[in-house]
Amino acid sequence: MAASEFSRLIAAAADTIAAHADELTALDQAIGDGDHGLNMKRGFEAVRAESDGIAAKPLPDALKAVGTKLVMTVGGASGPLFGTLFMALGKELPGTPDRATLTAALSKAIEAVGARGKSQPGQKTMLDVLQPVYEALAQGKTATEIADAADHAADATVPMKALRGRASFLGERSIGHMDAGARSTALLVRAVAEAIEG
Ligand code: ADP
Ligand code: MG
Ligand code: MG
Repeated sequence: MAASEFSRLIAAAADTIAAHADELTALDQAIGDGDHGLNMKRGFEAVRAESDGIAAKPLPDALKAVGTKLVMTVGGASGPLFGTLFMALGKELPGTPDRATLTAALSKAIEAVGARGKSQPGQKTMLDVLQPVYEALAQGKTATEIADAADHAADATVPMKALRGRASFLGERSIGHMDAGARSTALLVRAVAEAIEG
């Protein structure tokens, strides 16, 4: 991937997080501690600030650098988890990925996030978006279909009961609200899908 293209992906990701930071914060206020928008914005602005240096690296190293930066700057539960996601993608992806290698890498990255969070899909977290995105990728869906699947998956966390993260402290009262990390994941998936397609 050309450096300019990776820079474009970083900008698209940081833009969508910044544009939706208040929404992410409101979601996290309902069933968490209300910092998810701020956490993600801080992290992705830190990545954006180093965009030129990061994008100049080969794709695997660039993804690892994004992950490391997110771990250092996002904080909370989500920092290490999003960091793990990007670091694992960097570890698994070849320099020039195609759908097959991307699908395989995402599968490994989801496993790595689950290992880090002691979590799995079905527990009202970011994994409930990542897993359907992986399935859509594996099924050969288009970028738009994958982004739509991510949105639907985030919506589908509303009726779920949280079993991991702060929202799990609320038990049944976590039902009826969208998971903030599921929403931020869907936003990132759409941003990347549109940037790659457009
Ligand atoms: P914190 O909860 O520490 O304030 P954030 O608000 O930034 O951190 O992130 C919360 C999000 O992190 C949740 O909405 C959820 O999607 C995700 N999350 C939390 N714990 C886990 C976990 N164990 N496994 C997967 N995702 C998790
Ligand atoms: Mg929070
Ligand atoms: Mg917090």
